[in-house]
Amino acid sequence: MGHTAVLIPGDGIGPEVSEATKRILAAAGAQIHWIERAAGVAALDQGADSVLPADTVNAILEHKIALKGPCTTPIGGGFSSINVALRKKLNLYGAVRPVRSLDGVPTRYENVDLIVIRENTEGLYAGIENTITEGVITSLKVATLDACRRIARFAFEYALTRGRKRITVFHKANIMKLSDGLFLKCAHEVHDDYSNDIAYDEQIIDAGCMRLVQDPGRFDVILCENLYGDVISDLCAGLVGGLGVTPGANFGGDAAVFEAVHGSAPDIAGQGVANPLALLMSGVMMLRHLAETRGDETCTVAADRIREAYNACLTSGHKTRDLGGTLGTSEFADAVCAQLQRQGAVR
Ligand code: ATP
Repeated sequence: MGHTAVLIPGDGIGPEVSEATKRILAAAGAQIHWIERAAGVAALDQGADSVLPADTVNAILEHKIALKGPCTTPIGGGFSSINVALRKKLNLYGAVRPVRSLDGVPTRYENVDLIVIRENTEGLYAGIENTITEGVITSLKVATLDACRRIARFAFEYALTRGRKRITVFHKANIMKLSDGLFLKCAHEVHDDYSNDIAYDEQIIDAGCMRLVQDPGRFDVILCENLYGDVISDLCAGLVGGLGVTPGANFGGDAAVFEAVHGSAPDIAGQGVANPLALLMSGVMMLRHLAETRGDETCTVAADRIREAYNACLTSGHKTRDLGGTLGTSEFADAVCAQLQRQGAVR
């Protein structure tokens, strides 16, 4: 059984890490037929009249699955964020960002294993900003009952199906009593349906951040509105080795888009030094999603093989620069492919 998926290489380090990921997925035996589409600066460079061309959105709507590299939104010129627009257009309301310690990547903490779930469609990302008068700007934070209930239900379902035991909501309802208050109220109410299986608590976000960096092991699933989720995801990436090792997925409507937490990293783009692991791990999430939703066990086998291979590479010191190693993007991909071959030979 094969699967068709849309690949958006993106820009900056996107094409480099996408190429590496595609190569490793193929070497692991994943049967993916890629349909390549452009977004962001890359789309403009290819002559599209928009940073989010209709044929890119339509391809995802048709095939339901995409693996997406980072896309830079041009500054100025009236462009709004491609990532935000894509999530809104496809109704990808739930972002899932697993954060796990990796063998071979020593950090201050061992055994971090948590998931950040982020509401993806509203909050301050609604993008409603106004100049009230010269020197006075307002940005509107939007919270709707439907979206708050929807993300809470999504988070508890996600936690339940993965055997997670606790959801902690990060909020600032002591200040934003209405918007964050609604978010909290919905999470609290939805918890009633899951209280036999999943514990629930709430943390004011500033105190929550302090506890996260003191003792990340006490957290299991963290549920946040949009902006908090963005910030907390990067903070959590820092607990396990950085943005080079933190994957993500956006779910909702009936499409799923898998993408690393990191951006296009213009400071290292084009140098062949970016760590492809975050996008590769997002690709592994995509394979597990295909296995779950389409019952294709070969995807689980490929996902397990890739995980085993990159763990073996990391523990034997094959690492990119961001993790203290010396390998370039494509050399790291070579090392993972060679490891996959060795694993294949042993079986
Ligand atoms: P955005 O706002 O688009 O999410 P950002 O401001 O979070 O982007 P990134 O582009 O993610 O910024 O980069 C932040 C830092 O992390 C940069 O120094 C970058 O080089 C580094 N970085 C990000 N991704 C990787 C990667 N895959 N490999 C190595 N370093 C990376």
